[in-house]
Parts: sequence; structure tokens; C-alpha cells
Amino acid sequence: MIPLATYRKAMFWEKFNYRNLPYVVRCKLCSHYCIIKENEKGKCHTRLNKNGTLYAINWGMADATAIDPIEKKPFFHFKPNTKTLSFGTYGCNFKCLNCQNWNLSQAYQHSLHNDFSNPNLKPEKIVEIAIKTNADGISYTYSEPTIFFEYAYDTIVIAKKMKPELYHTFISNGYFSKELIDFIEKQNLIDAINIDLKFINEKKYKQICGASLKPVLKNIERIFQISPKIHIEIINLIIPEENDTENDIKSLCQFIHKLSPDIPLHFNRFYPAYMLQNKKATPFDILFKAKEIANEIGVKYVYIGNIAYPGVQDTICPNCGFIAVERDYIYRTKTNYIVKNGKVHCKKCDYELPIIP
Ligand code: SF4
Repeated sequence: MIPLATYRKAMFWEKFNYRNLPYVVRCKLCSHYCIIKENEKGKCHTRLNKNGTLYAINWGMADATAIDPIEKKPFFHFKPNTKTLSFGTYGCNFKCLNCQNWNLSQAYQHSLHNDFSNPNLKPEKIVEIAIKTNADGISYTYSEPTIFFEYAYDTIVIAKKMKPELYHTFISNGYFSKELIDFIEKQNLIDAINIDLKFINEKKYKQICGASLKPVLKNIERIFQISPKIHIEIINLIIPEENDTENDIKSLCQFIHKLSPDIPLHFNRFYPAYMLQNKKATPFDILFKAKEIANEIGVKYVYIGNIAYPGVQDTICPNCGFIAVERDYIYRTKTNYIVKNGKVHCKKCDYELPIIP
């Protein structure tokens, strides 16, 4: 049996009265708000109830680390041309049938990584690697950072002491709880978040991800209220026959535009993966149509990802059409803007661009 001392006590949970059973808890980390009985785990399979105490059993278990351009996350309007140390653990609070990292996110379903007993990369080690490799920041990614929040939190706290100028970004499905986002805001924990708005349809969220649309929309609105303290970008993977109709795309763009036409929106190309091997990759014309619809609605910064096609990842000045940032499909980035008093301006017409330099 794994000694309890190996696990880190979870954050955001409470004792819960459920059918008079002893030791029941409710996890308040994400919008599933799982009720977890003794010796059971939550939906994400990373939080275990032992004797009425909830433990984060994936703490320290980084399963993938890499130094990436920040553009790869993708962040196009946050610290262009910088390097970020990326890592994630196994487990996820979603069960997306199209997951590209399914061997990480759905490890427990496939008997992968069942031994959570040996933290292999403690937070101080992550920060040391970031410093040694001259990374400009740390990105919590690959799987969902919400479900390894204790690990991320401890890393951020140590990083703020060891190298305060490192930035911290989450690449998230946006399913965190209200309690978590309140805490993140209060403690100034992260600088940027990319939220994957997968569908604009409640039924599809349930069918494909095992989750619900409403909390994601609510959380995007909430983060937008906090921005620019937390910079936000949105990604949408267009999957043939699942979310590729003009109506789907229009509704999604209208939601973003209503918040702000300045929020960067990334349409990504789907490739067959995991349980959706039977589908074809997204046709180019659908991706270009999506960009056209978004622009017509008034979303100013629309990008197409996962394709090698010139120009679709460039930032164009909406005032004069000048290419303010050039990017290619392997994230080589050339900035053509000027920075005045910390604000980015178009080199040609001086228009202020919503980019954090
Ligand atoms: S993080 Fe979410 S899925 Fe995991 S136990 Fe907590 S509420 Fe459930």
C-alpha cells in the first residue's frame, strides 16, 4: 500500500454529508464538484479520498516536459518570441473522444501510469530546469492544469521566490471552479490563460467531453473581466460534422465578439485521434470559412493552427493591414511592431495592438 505521507493534501475540498456515510468529501477544484466516498477518486482520477481527507495523487508526477516557443501553446498576443518550459501530469477532468494526449489524460482508463507513488519531478526541480534552460516562463499544459493545481501552485510559489520574472501560463479546458479562479486572481498566480472552447453546444460537450458548456462560458466571461491582469486567448478545434457548421462557428464568434473583438481566436485543424480515428482531418475550406465568418462578425485577430499555410498565423494590423507579427507553422516568429511605454503599436500607422510584449 502506498504510504499516505507520499501524497500531498489536496486544496479546495470540504467534508460532505452524504447519506450519513462516514468520510465523504466534495472536491471544489473544478466544475464537476465531485462527491467522493472513502477510498474513491474523483472523475479526474487524480484525487483520492483516504479516511475523509482528499489527496492530490498526481503531485510531482510530471510526465512530459519540453522547452517550447510560447507561440506553440498557442499564445500569439502574449510575450511573442519567448521560450516556455511546458509540463503536465496524467489525468483529466474531461474525456474528449478526440484527445491528442489521451495516453496522458486518459491514462487510468488504459492501465497506463497506475503507480502514483513516486513523485519524480518536484516543483523546485521544475523551476531549476526553467532557470537552467533560460526559459522566460512556465506553461502548465498537455493535460488539464486544474487537475494538477496543487503541483502548479507549489511550482508557482517557489518560482516567484527563485526567479520572480518568470511568467506562468495555463492551457486549459476552462472547467475550473469559481473558488479556484477567485484564489488565482487573489494570489496573482498566472499571467495568461488559453481556454479551449470546444463546442458551443451543450449536447456535444456532454457527448464528446463528458462535461458541460455552461461553466466554460461563465469562466471565459470571468477571466475576461480579470484581463489584462490575466491575458486570455481562445482556441477552437474544428471537427468535421461535430462543430463545423456555419451556425456553430457564428455562435462561437458572436460569443467571443460580445466580450471583446480584441480577444485572439485560434481555429485549429482536427486530425484523426484517439476514439475519433474514423473522421477525416478538417478540410482547409472549412477553416478558411471560419476565419471569414469571425472577421465578418468583427473578431479582429483570427488565426488558423495545425496547418502549414502561409499567412494564416500572422497578426495583421486591423487599421492599416500591415503585418505586425509574422509566424510560420513551426512557430518561427518575427515581430514588426514598436513598443512605447509598454504598449505595442503598429510600425506603419501607430495603431495600438492588444499584445503583451
Ligand atoms: S478536480 Fe474536478 S473531476 Fe477531479 S475530483 Fe475535483 S471536482 Fe472531480
